[in-house]
Amino acid sequence: MKNFDNKQEQTLVIVKPDGVQRGLIGEVIKRYEACGLKLVALKMLIPTKDQTLRHYSIDPDWAIKTGTKTFESYQSKGLPMPGKNPIEFAEGIRRKLTDFMSSGPVVAMVWQGMGAVAVVRKITGSTEPLSSAPGTIRGDYTIDSYTASDIDSRAVRNIIHSSGNVDEASKEIPIWFDKKEIIQFRLISEEIIYDVNLDGILE
Ligand code: ATP
Ligand code: MG
Repeated sequence: MKNFDNKQEQTLVIVKPDGVQRGLIGEVIKRYEACGLKLVALKMLIPTKDQTLRHYSIDPDWAIKTGTKTFESYQSKGLPMPGKNPIEFAEGIRRKLTDFMSSGPVVAMVWQGMGAVAVVRKITGSTEPLSSAPGTIRGDYTIDSYTASDIDSRAVRNIIHSSGNVDEASKEIPIWFDKKEIIQFRLISEEIIYDVNLDGILE
């Protein structure tokens, strides 16, 4: 397709405290970098509880979606439901996430490129490590489950946060980065990834 260009799309990735502690920062960066996305912002920080709460409160439907996802996972395994109401249950998860995220340093990043949000979600894998596909970061490097984390009353340890959609990404990024921390620059590899003509390769 000529002039097809959404290579400016950006998404937020956070290597959560478990990912940092397990020495997986480099592995995470390597995987997104290798697929052709461009790293345009990066920092290490200890999130405040307020920052995490703002981050996980962007989507007004987050509690219903996350609670339902959890309940469906229990149902598919034939397990008794972990609570009465998915929304109430997800509010508990939100509180656990604020403790989890502020328990140590995290690495926040902005990745940019064509379809960046969907590409990062695909490479990251689904939320519950028990069912994340092999080949994805969560599938390859985590073993946690909703059941284990819910019994222990803690957030699921799945190494990474990544934005769920383009709108979410545009609201999440300002929670973690000032505009001036996001760098506009060209990568030489973008020519081979996006340019219509490949003139200039042959001598
Ligand atoms: P993230 O937003 O962190 O990228 P996600 O979009 O795959 O993850 P969400 O539904 O947004 O999944 O859940 C946010 C986070 O809450 C999960 O990554 C996980 O750490 C935690 N979490 C979700 N469901 C549960 C659960 N049932 N028990 C404990 N923690 C959970
Ligand atoms: Mg999410």
